[in-house]
This record gives sequence, C-alpha cells and structure tokens, in this order.
Amino acid sequence: MSFRGRLTVFVLLIVLVPMLAVGFALSRLVASGERGKADVRLATSRQVAVNLADQARLQGADVAERIARDPVLLRALRRGDHGLAEIRLQRWLRETSASRIVLRRLGEPLADAGQSDAVFPEIRQLATADGVLRGELMVAVAIASSFAGSVERVTGNPSIVAIDGWLAGSTVGEIRPGVLGSALSEVTADGVDYRVAGFASTSFPDASSRVFVLEPKSVLAAAQRRGRMLIAAVLGGFLLAMLAVAFLVAHSLHRQIARVLEAARRIGGGDYSARIPTDGRDDFAALGEEFNKMVARLEGRETDLLVERERLRVALLRIGDAVGASLDRDALLEVVVAAAREGVGADVGRASVCPPGGSWRVVARSGEEGVGEGALRAVEHRAARTGHAAEAHDGARRALARPLKDSQGSVVALIAIARAGSGFTTSERKLFGHLAGQAARSISNVESHRAATAQALTDPLTGLANRRAFGERLTLEVDRVSRFPDQALSLLMLDIDDFKLVNDTLGHQVGDKVLCEVARILRRGARDVDLPVRYGGEELALIVPGADIDGAVRVAERIRERVASLAMPVCGELDGPVQITLSIGVAQLRPGAPDAASLVAAADGALYRAKRAGKNRVERAPTAIGVPAE
Ligand code: GH3
Ligand code: MG
Ligand code: MG
Repeated sequence: MSFRGRLTVFVLLIVLVPMLAVGFALSRLVASGERGKADVRLATSRQVAVNLADQARLQGADVAERIARDPVLLRALRRGDHGLAEIRLQRWLRETSASRIVLRRLGEPLADAGQSDAVFPEIRQLATADGVLRGELMVAVAIASSFAGSVERVTGNPSIVAIDGWLAGSTVGEIRPGVLGSALSEVTADGVDYRVAGFASTSFPDASSRVFVLEPKSVLAAAQRRGRMLIAAVLGGFLLAMLAVAFLVAHSLHRQIARVLEAARRIGGGDYSARIPTDGRDDFAALGEEFNKMVARLEGRETDLLVERERLRVALLRIGDAVGASLDRDALLEVVVAAAREGVGADVGRASVCPPGGSWRVVARSGEEGVGEGALRAVEHRAARTGHAAEAHDGARRALARPLKDSQGSVVALIAIARAGSGFTTSERKLFGHLAGQAARSISNVESHRAATAQALTDPLTGLANRRAFGERLTLEVDRVSRFPDQALSLLMLDIDDFKLVNDTLGHQVGDKVLCEVARILRRGARDVDLPVRYGGEELALIVPGADIDGAVRVAERIRERVASLAMPVCGELDGPVQITLSIGVAQLRPGAPDAASLVAAADGALYRAKRAGKNRVERAPTAIGVPAE
C-alpha cells in the first residue's frame, strides 16, 4: 500500500472510530433525553388534567353550596319527602351547570339526577337548621367526553376518561376493553400506539374513574429521529471537515515526499545537481538539508572518482605503452616516469642512468624541464649515494627518488619526482616504490634480453657478429638498397692465409689468438655503420653500407695492410712474432638486381681469385657488381 494510502487509512481510523463512538453515545443520550422530555410533557399534561379536574370539582362545590342552602330541598329531606327532593334536584340540574347530582343518606341513595358519565363530583354534607345531618350531596359539573375534549384542547394531548373500566370519554377512538381499569403506561387505539400518564379521581359511589393523557409514540420516535439526524449531520459535517483537513495534510505530505522522491530519482540517475527544496523549519526541511549535504558529498566523491579514473586510464595506457616498449629501456623509463608523476600527482619526474664507469645522464623526463631542479638533484644525489629510497626538499618543493639496481645490486638508474606543496603520503610512496620496483625488474629483463639477443648474434671467440647476424644484416641492407637504388652496398670477404699452418705449427690456442687479433683489426677498421663478421672458421666478412666498390677496396687494402704489418708476439713460444696475411675479395651489390646471395658469391669469387693470385692481396669482383660496365 502506498504511503498516501496508509496515511489516509490512519487518518480515517483516528477520525472515524472516535466519531462512531461519539455518535453512538450521543444517539443514546438524545434517545434518553427525548424520552425524558416526552415524560415531562406527559407529566405536565397529566398535571393540567388534574388541575382541570380540580377546577371541575370546585365548580361542583359552588353548585353544591347553593343546593345545600335550598330550603325547599332541606324541608323535603326533613320531612323525608324523597319525591320532592328528586324534583328539586331536577330543577337544580336544569338551572346550574351541574351534570349529575346524587343525594344519599347513610350510604343509601335518596335521589339521583343527571348523566351517568358525569365525573369529578364534589361531596357535601347536608344539615338542616336544627343541626341534624340530613344526607350527603354529590355534585359534578364535568362530563367524561367533554372533559377528555377540553384536556386535549388545553394540553394538545389526546385524553381518555374511564369509569369503572368502561370508556366514558375519549378523543382517540376505541380502546381495547379491559385495559382501562388500571394504571397504564402504553395503550393502542385505532392501531396507533400511545404513551400514557393517568390519575385516579373521586367519583360517584360505587364507581371509580381514571383519566389518561396520551401522546403518540411516533412523537417521541420522531423527536429521537430528529435528534439522531442532527447528530448525524453535525458528525457528518465534522467528518467532512476532518476528511478535508486529512486530505490537505496528506496532499501536502505527499507533495513533500514526492519532491524528495523526485530528487532521489534524479540523483539515482546520476544527476547530482538535483537538490531538495528546504523551505520551512519542519522535519522535512531538516531531512532535505541532510539529504542535500549527502548529495554534495556524493558529488565531490564522484568528481574524485572521475579524476582517479582518468588517472587510472592514463596509467593503463602507459602500462600498455610500457608493454610495447618493454625491450627498449629508455622508452620504458619514460613510461614509468610519466606513470609515477601521474599516479602521485607530481609536477615533474625524470629517470637517469649511469653506465658502468660512466656518469649520470637523464634519459626520460615528464613535466616541464627545469621545474624542481634543485629538489630533484638533491634527492637523486642522496638515492645514488645511499642506494635507498630518498626524500628531499628544496624550498616549497618536495622530491622523492628510488634507485634501480641490477642483478649485482649496483645502482644503474634513478627515478625521481617532485612537486610543490604537501608532502607525500604513505600510499603515494608505496605507489612510487611499486612503479620503481617494476621498472627495475623490466630493465633487468631488457638487459637480459639484450644480452641473450647479442649472444645469439655474436661469435663468442672474436666478439664479432656471427653468420646469423651477417645474414640478417645483409638482408636488411639489400632491402634498403632495393628501396633506395642510389645508395651503394659493398661486401668484403676475408680469409687468413695459410692459417692451417699457424694451427699446425703454433697450436690451436695461438690460432685462436691470431684469429682474435685479426678480428680486432677488422673491427677497428670498420665504421659504425659497417658490420664486421666471423663468417666461419678463419674466414671473416665486412658489410660496408653506403660504399661503392672503390671505397670498399680502399677499406680492404687498409685492413690487409694492418694485418700484414702486425707483428704478434705469441707468448714466447716462437723465436719471432707471427706474421699473418689476409686475402680479401670485394664485391658491390648490383642496384638493378639486388640479391644477397649473388653478392656473397661475387665477393667469395674475388677472394678465391686473390688466393689463386698469391694471397695477401685484395681482389675485386671481376665484373664490378652493381657498377654498370663501362
Ligand atoms: P689458405 O691460405 O688456402 O686459406 O690455407 P689455409 O690453411 O688457411 O686454409 P684451410 O681451409 O686449409 O685451413 C683452415 C684452417 O683454419 C683449418 C682449421 O684448423 C683452421 N681453423 C678454422 N677455425 C679455427 C679456429 O676457430 N681456431 C683455430 N685455431 N683454427 C681454426
Ligand atoms: Mg685460410
Ligand atoms: Mg679458409
């Protein structure tokens, strides 16, 4: 169930339940109140009826007073003339408002005139002038039916007068016989139910009379209904008002929550610019403020994360570069320096190397040159001297350095970074140390690889390039000439003359030394771009890029002369120094048809001719290869 739904149910419960209870209690109160009011009404009407009856009795008393003074009647009584008395009473009946006059003596009726339904008689003793009691006079002026009518007129309530259990007077029609003799509380007349209040009254001898005042039950029911309707209307109005208030409160709460929800959704979607309005001083405003603070912190955190991610991305790129450059020490150092500077957030970084016996030289740099120079120099000096990680500062700039050592533990390189401002944290030092450690391992790998590669391409005895290196280099050079035909390429093939004899006479070891010496001369006679090679056995070669056959022949001559002039002392085993000579064949690549094999064959052919021609000489290929025939 939604928050709004729950709120509505809650409000309804706290409003409805007490309201129903109050409604029930009020309804009970109204019912009993109306009943009480009806009782009072009935009692009042009854009292009115009592008063009316008293009034009738007083009128009867007046008449009785006059009759009691009637001398004719008194004389008739004294004489015991009951006939005359009867006549007198008839006369009084006609001349006064009396409805019935009864004369009794010692309980015996002497005369009775008037209507049988007369009620509320007044009794008076009759005495003659001589003081003798002559009888008892009963005079009534009221008649049951008219009394009932006047009670209804005065009180507004229907009325019944019963004499001896029979219905003497009624304003409501027929009543079930037999119920009128006792005190009633309810009665039904002509199908209508009434509430009743009544009283017993004086009556003529041997008769009892009762007066009842009635009120239809429907009057009470209608009053109670009206009361309940009023309560229902008031409570209904109250409920409506409460519902309106509840609706407004729920609506307002829902709006505030909706705003929080909306902002939360936007933030959840990555929009950290969203803020919750915090007007007012209520709990929602406080909640909004806390929420907004949290979002601001999140925003800052995200910015940090983005910066970190960018750093990581750059670092990954560098590591990728490092993998690519893993066989190039300087390129590798460049990547490591840049990664260290990025990772630690330094202004500048650099790497320096120091070859054995050489001096320090910067080989990689990141950041502006010259920045933090003092701090860098100080920290590098300290790290190189101690062989450990070092920190130094120069003014406001702080620097960090790590030495990189080779497998023997010698410091071969240094990486240093510097920045202005705060010192380095432990995690920054760790990162820097990690990178430096990786760099040291990579450099060691590079050196091992370089050594292995060199070994694979170098002749172990003479240190010259071996046959394999010769093949690779010659292919490259031939390829270059094929792309740039105006560039020349020549090849020298050299063979030590009568070397077998050296071996045979001086021993194999001397032969090796001779071979090494000749190799040294060949190496020294070569330029940087040339490649001196031990081609096989005592046969050597020299690739001479960029030289035509004449230049190559000049090189060959120079080498031949140097070897020939070499007087090599051989450990005192012989009387004199060993004399050695070389035969050299020279050929130049034909630019029109560059082919390594034919170049080698041509140079070989020239060498063969040099041997045949008497050794210790230089021969060029018979048709200058690559030089168009003139
Ligand atoms: P030529 O003047 O015709 O070249 O005669 P040569 O004796 O030099 O030629 P040959 O090919 O007959 O002999 C080559 C000798 O070189 C054979 C071998 O003992 C020797 N030799 C080859 N490699 C080595 C080496 O590494 N060390 C030594 N000491 N001798 C070697
Ligand atoms: Mg030889
Ligand atoms: Mg040979």
